Amino acid sequence: MRLLITCKQAHQMVSEGLDRHLSLGERARLKMHLSVCDGCTNFNGQMQLLRRAMRKLPLRDDSNDQDRTS
Ligand SMILES: [Zn+2]
Repeated sequence: MRLLITCKQAHQMVSEGLDRHLSLGERARLKMHLSVCDGCTNFNGQMQLLRRAMRKLPLRDDSNDQDRTS
């Protein structure tokens, strides 16, 4: 397992993180990359905002409501 990932890999992880849960190792590597890379930190922040906005809007399947606990 490589500890340092490229910006391309970081972007990919951020994007994939919207659709699935990243493993502990993936998250650790991503976090490590974000701590040294401003560009990916910004990208990650924008994606998180986007994800939060998308959660508020019922864009997906209305009937699939089971994991909305809060
Ligand atoms: Zn980066």
